[in-house]
Amino acid sequence: MKTTSLIYDLHSHTVFSDGTLTPEELANRAHSKKVDCIALTDHDTTQGLASMRHHCDLNNIQFVPGVEISAVWRNITLHIVGLQIDEGYLPLQQGLEKIRAERARRSRLIADKLERAGIANALTDVVELAGTEAATRTHFARMLIQRRVVRDMREAFKKYLGKKGKAFVSGEWTDFSQVTKWIVDSGGYPVLAHPARYNMTRTKMNEFLKEFKEAGGVGIEVATSSHNLTEKKQAADFANSFDLYASAGSDFHTPAHTRVDLGQYLSLPTLCKPVWTLWDSK
Ligand code: AMP
Ligand code: MN
Ligand code: MN
Ligand code: MN
Repeated sequence: MKTTSLIYDLHSHTVFSDGTLTPEELANRAHSKKVDCIALTDHDTTQGLASMRHHCDLNNIQFVPGVEISAVWRNITLHIVGLQIDEGYLPLQQGLEKIRAERARRSRLIADKLERAGIANALTDVVELAGTEAATRTHFARMLIQRRVVRDMREAFKKYLGKKGKAFVSGEWTDFSQVTKWIVDSGGYPVLAHPARYNMTRTKMNEFLKEFKEAGGVGIEVATSSHNLTEKKQAADFANSFDLYASAGSDFHTPAHTRVDLGQYLSLPTLCKPVWTLWDSK
């Protein structure tokens, strides 16, 4: 069994979703940041996993195959991270393909709204940036920055892409219980990503976590760049009261974002049960 002094970073992205590094660059950066174990968790795709596995092996880093899946619970979009998934499991792949089709549909609708707001041919540039119509809002934001419509990500989400933005389109994601089942059935561990990001009341979060556990959920992110210290403590309390394992992940997307780097701020409160004990003790 490994000791807790090792650095586990169980949430990260590459160019296969909305990150800017290739798996090779991500693995090399993880090595230079002294990360001992890393999960690649791109949005709704496992395309980067084979390359990431190879480059983690070269760097002597423990690799965890993962994915961050877009899901819905009572009209709220949630992200469920699957850790130690089997990317060869067909129902999981079919599910991810369906979600990517929904991403493509939403991309076209976002582009329509942008067109009406005076921003023409957005989809062409976004497809160029993402390599697919199944893009993320991050790609739309990068397009708006490139065209100098906005100055930065913050402004892109505030004015256009966020809930109150002119080009907001809510994705019709798959029900969280189905997403959780795909992960479990593929041999993986479902973890609720960045719980503080959903602006849920404590009551709502309690209701969700009860259903999440019933559906097969096993963990919740406690240490993440999305959380301040208060939110980290709250997440740890949820983990303990629902007997969920605690996860830690930077949600790293790009070296351009100087506030969030691989392997940073990932210590878990001592009372938490780290999610990696599920596989390290095997
Ligand atoms: P999507 O899954 O396509 O709706 O896009 C969600 C992604 O957009 C998240 O994974 C973040 O990487 C990014 N994102 C969401 N909100 C913001 C924000 N306010 N500022 C910067 N990036 C954001
Ligand atoms: Mn993202
Ligand atoms: Mn997320
Ligand atoms: Mn993420």
